[in-house]
Amino acid sequence: MWIEIKVTAQNEREAEAVAEVLQLFALDGEWVATEQLGDQNDVRANALLREVAVKLAIDAERDDPLFRQLIAEELGKNDLPSPTFHSVDETEWATAWQANFHPLQIGERFWVRPSWEQLDSNPDDLVITLDPGNAFGTGTHETTQLCLKQIEQYVNAGASALDLGCGSGILAIGAAMLGASPLLAVDIDHDSVVATRENARINAVDGKIVVKQGSLDVVERRDWDVLIANILAPTLIEMLTQGQLLDYIAPDGVLILSGILGVQSADLQQAIHQAGGILHAEFTQGDWIAQIVKHAHK
Ligand code: SAH
Repeated sequence: MWIEIKVTAQNEREAEAVAEVLQLFALDGEWVATEQLGDQNDVRANALLREVAVKLAIDAERDDPLFRQLIAEELGKNDLPSPTFHSVDETEWATAWQANFHPLQIGERFWVRPSWEQLDSNPDDLVITLDPGNAFGTGTHETTQLCLKQIEQYVNAGASALDLGCGSGILAIGAAMLGASPLLAVDIDHDSVVATRENARINAVDGKIVVKQGSLDVVERRDWDVLIANILAPTLIEMLTQGQLLDYIAPDGVLILSGILGVQSADLQQAIHQAGGILHAEFTQGDWIAQIVKHAHK
């Protein structure tokens, strides 16, 4: 038996704060799932609501009134909504979990599909097989989609590409399918490095991606054609202004940046200019944006 702890957050930002709190109560092998409410199978933009359900399933043996009280208190302390608790049996949980993930088309050619779903694809389609796990990036998040669409635009066969903050590896796998070479994926998080290697293997592109644990410190090459970073805005700003992020791309290379909330766009632009870059283009999806950045002298 499992106990599902569920909190309904009003928006993406609140959902992230809730997920952070719930994560404190998770053990190895238990992970926090978020699900934007609304009809996931409806492709219209307004089919998805702003509310996000944040869930953690824990082993029923760990459940007791004190445990519940601690979780409620921790959420309350952070001005977050109260949790609800209900028990689910294992198969119910697995089915409910799987019901949230369906093949998803992203951009013109990419599809992301969980391994348990069949997909009749066209010869031109690039199908990434990815199951939810403990690394970020199943394709359902707007920032991941924004990045994949730009990868489709900017990664040509033979272009060198760096995926900074690779999570599940979804973006690097997409770039590999477009023929990026060489291709490096890095993440500071050990689980993400493991997940990226495993997902690359499942998608038969493990020979095309080098995966390393770390950040810019483990990146030797300084002339990437395409550098993709889907990390939160404060980290991107620091990388631009203090980490010389722009120095990592070739003179006519591009940065594809996401993880940026619409309201943070101006702060990013300021950091881009300060770093000697120009904002070449900006794309919006939901609350999030992606920015394409080049060297200013080009
Ligand atoms: N690229 C995936 C995952 C994005 S989530 C996608 O688009 O879906 C952001 C990832 O960046 C996380 O896996 C996190 O561990 C990693 N990360 C956060 N800060 C980082 C840093 N300073 N350097 C490298 N990776 C970082």
